[in-house]
Amino acid sequence: SKPIAGVKGTFSERTFIAIKPDGVQRGLVGKVISRFEERGYKLVGLKALAPSKELAEKHYDDLKARPFFAGLVNYMTSGTPVIAMVWEGKDVIKQGRAMIGATNPLESAPGTIRGQYCISVGRNIIHGSDSFESAEKEIGLWFGKAGELVEWTPANVDWIQSDN
Ligand code: UDP
Ligand code: MG
Repeated sequence: SKPIAGVKGTFSERTFIAIKPDGVQRGLVGKVISRFEERGYKLVGLKALAPSKELAEKHYDDLKARPFFAGLVNYMTSGTPVIAMVWEGKDVIKQGRAMIGATNPLESAPGTIRGQYCISVGRNIIHGSDSFESAEKEIGLWFGKAGELVEWTPANVDWIQSDN
């Protein structure tokens, strides 16, 4: 079957982006969405949900041995919503990570999302898939039900997508 993260390196590539509870509490949802929209990426999935412990633990499964894991899961399951999204477009996985900036706020360049809005590694407002494999896993986990993602063609597609 077709990968849920699209085809890597094409305009159909998809990534999972989530605004974490601190980003929602701080009123940064619109600003984050605007950056992806204005860059030219296409929104194909969006929902607000307060994730269960099980979902948060599965999402961060690769970090379960780390000392900050319990705190990370608590933060993600505070009861405040997470804004879960799927964005589509050329190289969106790598570009999304570049737009988000480094995990450690000391290393996240000014102008990146974290570099503009964060000073703590434990309150860094946003998540983005770090590889095609992660995107495949995370989109499946958060948007696994049929019909949750929308296939559509933006009216301005020819003004955004071309290699000439
Ligand atoms: N994290 C933390 N303390 C740390 C390192 C990471 O609380 O010392 C949290 C932080 O929210 C980070 C998340 O764990 O975004 C996932 O860590 P990862 O290394 O995968 O960073 P990311 O992919 O989010 O940049
Ligand atoms: Mg990560």
